[in-house]
Amino acid sequence: MTKGRGEQLTRHHKIPKSRGGGDEPSNIKIVKARIHRAWHTLFQNSDKTNMTPIEALEQVKEWAVPDLSSLGVYLPTKKRHAWNLVFGENTTPAKAIKIITKEWS
Ligand SMILES: [Zn+2]
Repeated sequence: MTKGRGEQLTRHHKIPKSRGGGDEPSNIKIVKARIHRAWHTLFQNSDKTNMTPIEALEQVKEWAVPDLSSLGVYLPTKKRHAWNLVFGENTTPAKAIKIITKEWS
């Protein structure tokens, strides 16, 4: 979307357009391109559709089983890297859930 000094910014649809989300400002999050790619690397359904925020929350809880305070071994390397980009290095699932609820929903 925007190219200039610094990192490229993109428009993320909180409810994906493919899932019925619209272009209204409340459904848009302006996000750095590499964070945006990381989000969609993390939160894609098995049928390749983009997850809704609610599905993303469920996915985080699933990865976190049985412990919301650590990620255990449930995250493959590629997704671990994406996790660190979106939420920050070593962020717990409990904190990630707060971030999704506050910033991505
Ligand atoms: Zn997006």
